Amino acid sequence: MTVAMLALAACVADAPVLAPTPGVQIVQVIATPVATQTPTATRLPTTAPTPTAFVTAPATGQAAIVPILMYHHLADLPGDAGELRQTWTVAPRNFNAQMDWLAQRGFHTITLAQLTAHLKRQQPLPAKPIVISFDDGWEEQYAVAFPTLKRHNLIGTFFVYTNPIDHAQFMTWAQLQEMAAAGMDIQAHTLSHPHLRTLAPDAAYKEIVESKAILEKRLGKPIIALAYPFGEYNNAVIDLLKRAGFESAVTLAAGYRQRADELFTLHRIRMSYNDTLDDLAKRLPQ
Ligand SMILES: [Zn+2]
Repeated sequence: MTVAMLALAACVADAPVLAPTPGVQIVQVIATPVATQTPTATRLPTTAPTPTAFVTAPATGQAAIVPILMYHHLADLPGDAGELRQTWTVAPRNFNAQMDWLAQRGFHTITLAQLTAHLKRQQPLPAKPIVISFDDGWEEQYAVAFPTLKRHNLIGTFFVYTNPIDHAQFMTWAQLQEMAAAGMDIQAHTLSHPHLRTLAPDAAYKEIVESKAILEKRLGKPIIALAYPFGEYNNAVIDLLKRAGFESAVTLAAGYRQRADELFTLHRIRMSYNDTLDDLAKRLPQ
């Protein structure tokens, strides 16, 4: 029996109210003929996950194939924009085309929490899983990314640092709360976006643990993952994350192979201004 069949079987078995015995159903049919258009016993459970293929978790030391796309700014740039701005920006039109492309090819967006549970606790994932992540909390992530994701039925993971929230160019708490309520995944990116490796351990720990606490208090959801500011980390920083209760962290290292024993150095795929759909396709598992 496949995992998918087991999951479906479990859902049916857990729903006795929706699946009365045939005898009971006949009585119902006679008593209330108007309500018989759909036989209850054959109705699919509405809470069933995608009843097709599932990805089973990798064994220890093996890698899960789960791309994590990485975006920062979503904006149109002037023709003379420098290389740095082009590296960290994607035009809204191109972002929309990339989401179209992913949705049409059957990718299923998952959250960092789902990926972490998959790697740590063997929780199954839908087929063709992908994480779409955004760093820093720029205002376009609410104005452009959020509606585009919703239109495509996709979920985004937003790594926000907390000090600039409610300030110019960044999202507000109200916007983040709206996104979280709509199913978007919000995760940590420290308080002030410091260079964690060169900070004194106490100060680095404060950046890590307080950003988690602030987000959890304001959003009412567990914060389990962090994106390293500037992609900078070392073993001491990873130890601080573990002490603060984080379960995973993402870097700027390229790739889509996520190892179960390297939860604090997950890889990502950066999308930039001049990337085409072909570039996106080449960076994803075939
Ligand atoms: Zn950042």
